[in-house]
Amino acid sequence: MKNDKKQKQRKNKEEHGEKRNLSTFALCRFIFPRVFRRAPVITTIILLVPIYYSLTSGFSTIITEKLVAGAERFAADGVLTGVLVALAWSFGLAVLSRLMPVFQNILWLRFNHKVEVGFFRDAYEKIAVTEPISFTNTESLDEMNKALQGLYNVYSLPFQISELFTYSIPYFIFMSIYLWFMYPPLVLSLFLVFIPALFGNLLKRKIATDLEEQIAPFRRSFGYYESTIVGRDLYKENRILGNYRLLRGRHLMTLRKMQGPQKKEYMKGKRLNLTLDICSYGGYTAVLLLLFYALLWGHISVAQFSAVFLSIGNLYGAMNDMISIRLGDIASDNATMSNYVRFVQTPSVRGNETTPPAPTDITFDNVSFQYPQTEVPALQHISFTLKKGETLAIVGENGAGKSTLIRLLSGLYLPQSGDVTYGGRSSVEWPLSVLTRGTSAVFQQYQKYQMTLRENVEISDWDKSMSDESMHELLVQCGLNENNAEFPNGLETMLSREFDGVDVSGGQWQRIAIARGYYRDHWLIIMDEPTAAIDPFEESRIYHMFADLAKEKTAVLVTHRLGSVRLADRILVLKNGELVQIGTHDELVNTPGEYQRLWKAQSQWYEENEETTDEAETPEDAQ
Ligand code: ADP
Repeated sequence: MKNDKKQKQRKNKEEHGEKRNLSTFALCRFIFPRVFRRAPVITTIILLVPIYYSLTSGFSTIITEKLVAGAERFAADGVLTGVLVALAWSFGLAVLSRLMPVFQNILWLRFNHKVEVGFFRDAYEKIAVTEPISFTNTESLDEMNKALQGLYNVYSLPFQISELFTYSIPYFIFMSIYLWFMYPPLVLSLFLVFIPALFGNLLKRKIATDLEEQIAPFRRSFGYYESTIVGRDLYKENRILGNYRLLRGRHLMTLRKMQGPQKKEYMKGKRLNLTLDICSYGGYTAVLLLLFYALLWGHISVAQFSAVFLSIGNLYGAMNDMISIRLGDIASDNATMSNYVRFVQTPSVRGNETTPPAPTDITFDNVSFQYPQTEVPALQHISFTLKKGETLAIVGENGAGKSTLIRLLSGLYLPQSGDVTYGGRSSVEWPLSVLTRGTSAVFQQYQKYQMTLRENVEISDWDKSMSDESMHELLVQCGLNENNAEFPNGLETMLSREFDGVDVSGGQWQRIAIARGYYRDHWLIIMDEPTAAIDPFEESRIYHMFADLAKEKTAVLVTHRLGSVRLADRILVLKNGELVQIGTHDELVNTPGEYQRLWKAQSQWYEENEETTDEAETPEDAQ
């Protein structure tokens, strides 16, 4: 009941995930504490520095006024003191204004060092616990990609916001008061200038959101085609098959598809900026006219006129900066920041059980599973129990659902209906990393780490260590020998030409992947067609070793070569996503059905190809 509810909630979240942008307040609530926690002192100093700028900007207007008044006095009665004091202040401010940016840059370097890494870590930790099924879903992949784009804007938000409060607003208030006492209508015109800019920011926000939505899918394709062109593993096939030009064409086509909306939105943005600028300059001119009017009608003195006239450009710049740039940036970055924050805050659909399951039975109870963005379920109504210590083989034609079944069995995917239970408890109760602590696996598509031979094996259980002798034994069991010439530095041989190491064959890589699977401490081991690149003699040997090593463990073997499945205690047969048979080899081979059909088809194949492999391996020999 409880699990059904959880599954429904999960599906709902997956299908109707919140996509709206977050409010600036919500973004601040997420970002500010994280920035402060990571660099409290530096952040505080950086946040306070703009107060200095706002004060000096205000003071420089007063100093200008004093300077002009001092000059008038000097002209009238020859007293120079006023001019000298004003010049001394002006000099002091000028020196400080040169030193401040240097100080600020040093602070920024230290800040980035501490805070940027922290936000990256949050993103990677989230990716590590993201449901594996999301990696098969283009929408989820786009969301992840967009989140990483937002990362670069996230940690500058506190400064964008705080500069409003520590620079723009204090300066604005300072000048408003100054102008108010001078001639009140001047203040009014300042407000009027920036009203169009405020509206413009709302539009900017929309433009940025639209653009991000449009280009995110292409950005991933762009990255993919780039990797097919420059990727080390693919260049041979590209050149021999002559598909380099095609891939390059697609790469450039994706680039153009990204450039299209970028150009359109860029032009929209520019048009908007131009309109805003015209409105702002209109206001700027109005302020100047007002100033002349005030001077002509004797509302302000010549010194006041000069001070305001000279600082109006600065004031205009500061206000424009506040509304058009600072608020504009916050608005236009909102879309990408929201993507990041939403992604990092996505709640986990799994429980919090901290003790991994002990070796136990694993039960499928009426399990069905359908991949996102597909119409047909990959598995339907599967029920069976894998007993503790049992070796189970899963067979079926391509697309029958074998790989999907083991992904559900290992907890990698969660079923949409029904339940997979470990000793009676649903697999959803554990975080994936805890559930799989006693599981090892060798998949069809395994990693080829550009690391040493030893590291390539040890990476499956990094906290464990193994003596050279034990490692040697393990490698030999898997058909490898680190003392052979192909590994010039033994266990420490780097398996990558790009890093001054060696290249090894596909078969060797596969053996290394198998050794990696065995190295990890486990009670449950899964082998998903692990021998595709290995010749049949070696394959037979590996399956016998698998049967030996799996004696004490629960083991699942997926294969389409039926010669080796007789080693299993039971065989589960899948057809079009349904479990059609389960039993021992002897039971199934003598019962009319899918297994017998597959067995006969393979016997025929072996006969036709005059297969001369290991005698015990061919189906007809085994009969
Ligand atoms: P098998 O391992 O027996 O070849 P799979 O479990 O890989 O079968 O696939 C079962 C069905 O699910 C197939 O119809 C396949 O097309 C579909 N399928 C597998 N992986 C995905 C995926 N990532 N997205 C969508 N459909 C998938």
